[in-house]
This record gives sequence, structure tokens and C-alpha cells, in this order.
Amino acid sequence: MTRALVLALVLLVGACGITRPASMDTEGADSFAEDVRTARTLSEAFWKQQFEQLGRTYRPLAAFIPYSGRSGPACGNEPAVPNNAFYCPLGHFVAYDQDWMEALWTEMGDGSVYVIIPHEIGHAVQAQLRTGFQLNVQAELQADCYAGGTLSALVNSGALRAEEGDEDELLYSLEAAGDPTDDWLDPSAHGTAAQRQASFARGYQDGVSAC
Ligand SMILES: [Zn+2]
Repeated sequence: MTRALVLALVLLVGACGITRPASMDTEGADSFAEDVRTARTLSEAFWKQQFEQLGRTYRPLAAFIPYSGRSGPACGNEPAVPNNAFYCPLGHFVAYDQDWMEALWTEMGDGSVYVIIPHEIGHAVQAQLRTGFQLNVQAELQADCYAGGTLSALVNSGALRAEEGDEDELLYSLEAAGDPTDDWLDPSAHGTAAQRQASFARGYQDGVSAC
């Protein structure tokens, strides 16, 4: 695993290039909410462009739903659970436990939000491309790869600014989210931390077309 890829992200906002230090400096709920909103908006804008290049039309999420504890929206018969974020193909929405995600944002930095949201939007892309996988873990690792590709594209376009230092943030977020075992047949498996990091890094290096 090369660590040179690992970047802390700092947002550039405003037409005159005012840098808003999105990570450690401002720790209010406003900044967290703004990071979440920005991660969603930029990720969907990126995929809209990608779909256009393929001669297709990206279908924006129907909803983007924060929840707390067990108050989240069900996906079909599956209730929302605490400490999770998910994409629901039935309603074409993403929902996330905002308390859990804000805790990650506070503990690990804003990189956590910029991994989790593009990952979930990656599932929304898979649903539209009708990507078929035999094993759930394959879909999960592709979503990690999509997240890496989305982030590098946003950094390259200048929508996000990457900074060296605080280097482990993004990969640490994946590591924390990685399943502890390497059980590829478990339908809910996301892959080990190492697998998830490798997938993310492949997307980050080579773009979403490599996913
Ligand atoms: Zn996933």
C-alpha cells in the first residue's frame, strides 16, 4: 500500500479561491453539515459528467436522508440500523446515521465523510449501470474504488484541494470501516481493511474507469 496517495482534503470554496479549512480548524456542526452536503453535491456532479461522456443520463438521488439511532428510513423490509450509511435501490436514496458520521468526522477528520458519501453514491451508480456481481463484497470493493476515483477527479479539477500531512485520514477511515475477517462468502462482507484500501487506491490512481 503506497501512502503517497493518502491526502487530507480541504475545500476550496468561492470564486476567488478562498480556502475554507474544512478539517480540524472549525469543529462546529455547521462545518460537518457542510462537508456532508459538499461531498454529496460534488460526487453527484462528477457522476453526471461521467454519464454524459458515456452518452447516458445520471439519475440524481431521490433523497439524501440523515437519521439518528433507529429512526432511519427502511429499505424495503430492511430497517435502518444505527452506525451505518446505506444506499437503497428501492427508493434510490442514501441515508446515514448523522450522529455516527459526525463522531467519525470529529475523531478522524473530514476525510471520513469524503470516503463514506462517495462510496454510497457509488452504489447509486452501480444501480444505474446495472452492474451485476455474484458476491456482495465485489460490489463493496467497486464502490470503494469509485470513491477513490471520484475524489481524485475532484482534486484534479480543483473542486477539492488535497493537502499533504494528516496523511492517514482517508485510508484510516476505510480501515475502520473494513470487516475484521476475510469472509468472501458472507453476503454482507465489505472486504478486509487491506482490500478496501487497495480498491480505493486503484480508483484514486487510475480513475473510475479502472474500477
Ligand atoms: Zn457499501
